[in-house]
Amino acid sequence: MIPYGRQDISEEDISSVIEVLKSDFLTQGPVVPAFEQAVANYCGVKHGVAVNSATSALHIACMALEVKKDDIVWTSPITFVASANCAIYCGANVDFVDIDPITYNMSLIALKEKLQIAETNGKLPKVVIPVHLAGQSCEMEEISLLAKKYGFKVIEDASHGIGGKYKGLPVGNCKYSDITVFSFHPVKIITTGEGGMCMTNDSELAKHLTRYRSHGITRHSSEMTQIPDGPWYYEQIELGYNYRMTDINAALGLSQMKKLNMFVTKRHQIAKVYNEKLHETSSILLPFQHKDTYSAYHLYIIRCKQFSKGETRLQLFEKLRSAGILVNLHYIPVYRHPYYQKLGFKREDFPEAENYYAEAISIPIHTVLSDEDQKFVINQIIKPIGHQNLF
Ligand SMILES: *Cc1c(COP(=O)(O)O)cnc(C)c1O
Repeated sequence: MIPYGRQDISEEDISSVIEVLKSDFLTQGPVVPAFEQAVANYCGVKHGVAVNSATSALHIACMALEVKKDDIVWTSPITFVASANCAIYCGANVDFVDIDPITYNMSLIALKEKLQIAETNGKLPKVVIPVHLAGQSCEMEEISLLAKKYGFKVIEDASHGIGGKYKGLPVGNCKYSDITVFSFHPVKIITTGEGGMCMTNDSELAKHLTRYRSHGITRHSSEMTQIPDGPWYYEQIELGYNYRMTDINAALGLSQMKKLNMFVTKRHQIAKVYNEKLHETSSILLPFQHKDTYSAYHLYIIRCKQFSKGETRLQLFEKLRSAGILVNLHYIPVYRHPYYQKLGFKREDFPEAENYYAEAISIPIHTVLSDEDQKFVINQIIKPIGHQNLF
C-alpha cells in the first residue's frame, strides 16, 4: 500500500518524546513554550499558541476575533470541514467563496464580487478564512487590501502550509492576516500526533488565544479583575475550553521542526519528478504554481480532464486504488455535506468548485515515498485503463 501522505518519524523524534515521559511534566511543562517559540521564530512572527488540533486553533481564532451569533464568516468550499465548522461553533453563519480555476484557492475575483454584493445588502463578513490548499499560499496581499477596504479580519488556514512561503516570507508570519493556523496531524508537513497552533503578531489576540485554550483562566495578576487573596489564586475571566497541547506532543513537534526545511525540499523533489513524467499525459492537468508562492506541497493534486460520460476520473481513481495506491480526493466541497445542505447551499452557486470536484485526485506525496514507489505510481497513472501490468 502506498498512502497519499504519511508521517516521517526518526529515532531522534522518539528519544525526544521519551525524554518528556521521564521528566516531571507530561503537560503544561517547558516543552510547549519551547515548541511555540521555535515555530514563531521560524515564521518570523511574535506569538505562537499551541493547541491540541488545528480545529481547536480555528475555533479559538474565531473567538479571539469576536465571531459571535449571527456574524458572517466566509471560507473556501474546497477545504476540510473544520475551516467552516469553527465559525458555526461560535454561532455565526458560514458562506463560501468559489475557488480560482487555476490555483484552486479562494478566487480573488469571486471574493471581490461577493464583497460588493454583501456591502450593498449590508451583509459583509466579519472574518474571511482563506485556505492555502495543498500548501500553496493564497494571494494574501490582495486579500489584506480587501480586508482593509471592507473591514473584515483574516484567519489563514495554513493547515497544509507550514514550510511554505509567500512573496519570499514564511507562511505564518501574519504580515497579511490577523491569525494563521497550522495543523500537526500526521498527514501534514510536520506532526505532533494531533496538534495545531495559532500564530499572531497581536499581543492582545495572543492573550485571548492563550486563555481560550485553557478554560478562560489567567494566572497573571495584570489580567485579573479582583485582588488575589492568596498564592493559590487564579481567575476564570472568560469562557474557554481544554484545548491544551501536551509536552509529549510538543516534544515531537519541536524535534520535527529541525527537519521542516528538509521535508519541504523532499516534497519539491517528488513534485518535480511528477511534473517531468506526467506533463505529457494529455488528459491530466498538473498543479499550477503561482509565481509569488513556494508551496509546502502537502498535496499533489492532478485534474483528470473528462472525455466521455465523466468516467475518466473514477476509472483512474479505481485503477490506482486497486493497484494499492491510496489516492484520495481533497476535498468534497463543504457545502455538499448533508449538514451544510440543510443550511440551504446550492451547488450552482459554486461552478468552479463543482468542476474541480469532478476532476481532482491527490496522488501520493510524502517524505518516505521511495523512488521505486513513485515510479510505480507514475506508471500506473500513465498506463491505459485495462492494460496489463508487465513489470
Ligand atoms: C487538517 C486540516 C484541518 C484540521 O486539522 P486538525 O489538526 O486535524 O484539526 C483544518 N483545515 C484544513 C485545511 C486541514 O487540512
